[in-house]
Amino acid sequence: MFTYSDTNKRYHTLDYYYKHKFGCKIAKISLNAGFTCPNKDGTKGVGGCIYCSKLGSGDYAGKPNKSLSEQFYEIKNIIDKKWPNAKYIGYFQANTNTYASVNVLKEKYEEILNINGVVGLNIATRSDSISLECLDYLEELNKKTFLNVELGLQTIHEKTNKLINRKETLEEFEKMVKKLRSRGINVIVHIINGLPYETKEMMLETIKYVNKLDIQGIKIHMLHILKNTKLAELYQKEKFHILTKEEYVNIVCDQLELLRKEIVINRITGDPNPNELIEPQWLIKKFGVLNEIDKEMVRRNAYQGDRVGD
Ligand code: SF4
Repeated sequence: MFTYSDTNKRYHTLDYYYKHKFGCKIAKISLNAGFTCPNKDGTKGVGGCIYCSKLGSGDYAGKPNKSLSEQFYEIKNIIDKKWPNAKYIGYFQANTNTYASVNVLKEKYEEILNINGVVGLNIATRSDSISLECLDYLEELNKKTFLNVELGLQTIHEKTNKLINRKETLEEFEKMVKKLRSRGINVIVHIINGLPYETKEMMLETIKYVNKLDIQGIKIHMLHILKNTKLAELYQKEKFHILTKEEYVNIVCDQLELLRKEIVINRITGDPNPNELIEPQWLIKKFGVLNEIDKEMVRRNAYQGDRVGD
């Protein structure tokens, strides 16, 4: 059996990690703290990354017109009925969640940390948006609670990076990973498979690069084209190739084999809002994709980490 699994999973799932760390059900609650993003407000760029939705890639986060506590309790009250002993992680998901003064950040993060049953925070952000003062604060916070900083990378390829208008360099990303790690803070990296005109080899190169960094977790996304985005316009115009489910499963299984087994797989497919989704429609059946990944790992008799160093 795989070292980091109590079931038939052949990769290091988040469920396994939480179960062994906390010994109980952990539910993550997505929040929208009303931040903006330097790639939208003109500081780094305008218009944002071409795939960014109007909700700042936080489509399942709460509504920013409600307070953070209100957003949190709305979901917590539902989850409590199913898992009365669950503990919670507040997930600051929408937009860039360190893009404000430390006083504002403190107020927002601590509002959630003060809620009974909250054991930690996940904070999604950009590597160009964590000030030195913020790093000091995060280091302090990390001593008091379970903290994960989620950094978008998406691809290591400059040509794609330009095309998707991320306005952030690989160098900035790598420097910030090192800074966070030098302060002992967990780092989770986001990558996207299926970006326009990327080949399978390019996606595997991104994973090989990420694997060499001192990171604790990864989120592997499938690109999804949402309505009213720049990506939707590009797709309409150029009809670039969208990965089929079979291609995606094949690439993800290769990526799992290439990743160190200690890296926790926080996500392995996309979870788009079906009402906003243009392509790929196969992504709507999330559990079908997860099952296909499990089946393919069995067919290969492969486990996460089998091909590290290839
Ligand atoms: S960095 Fe995130 S929030 Fe900012 S434009 Fe890109 S996807 Fe949207």
